[in-house]
Amino acid sequence: MTPIRGVLFDWGDTLFSPPDAGSVIVAAAAERGVHIEATKARALWDELWVAGKMPEELAKGRDLSADAHREVWTALFERANGAVPDIASTLYERVMDPRAWIPYPDTAPTLRALRSRGVRIGIVSNVPRDLRPIFTAHGLAELVDAYTHSFEVGAEKPDPRIFLRASEALGTLPRDTLMVGDHPVADAGAIVAGLRFYLLPPDGAPDAPRGLDRVVAIVDASQD
Ligand SMILES: [Mg+2]
Repeated sequence: MTPIRGVLFDWGDTLFSPPDAGSVIVAAAAERGVHIEATKARALWDELWVAGKMPEELAKGRDLSADAHREVWTALFERANGAVPDIASTLYERVMDPRAWIPYPDTAPTLRALRSRGVRIGIVSNVPRDLRPIFTAHGLAELVDAYTHSFEVGAEKPDPRIFLRASEALGTLPRDTLMVGDHPVADAGAIVAGLRFYLLPPDGAPDAPRGLDRVVAIVDASQD
């Protein structure tokens, strides 16, 4: 095995965690004069989020443009309109906007640890807008060498083309590049493209470490 020279990270649920959608639903319901229990709101969101990761939703091209993203996600969120009237567009605005997402506690330390080892770092994301300002806002911009966004490439994960473009942007060969993500279908497209791949465990609490220290261990093991 050759040493890993570059690491590509997925963005959502890998380096950044979403806003607490359960609280968003409770608040939005209250604004509409509707009471919904926190546990019910959470369950409602979990159902939507799981549905949103299904292959049939991924196949809708939602990350190729901002318009498609809004349209496809809002249509999915309409399933919750029965529980809270007209919640779909509010959910989209308050939960899906990358500006509302925050890094996991181990995101910056992991990127720094990789950087100190001379490893190139890239972001590869199915996303309809530029993530650079998001990394800048959280003081992480200097820890990322390259961004590869689906809307710019015109291909979404798991399409191998996006991973090949991303490793090219890093200047590393696919076989020397490790892709890290949380989605067993979308992110695993890296394998078809000839990259190495590490699948994170399902996402946990937003304020708990994501388990990214494992990535540093994998990189270290590859140097032997
Ligand atoms: Mg993800």
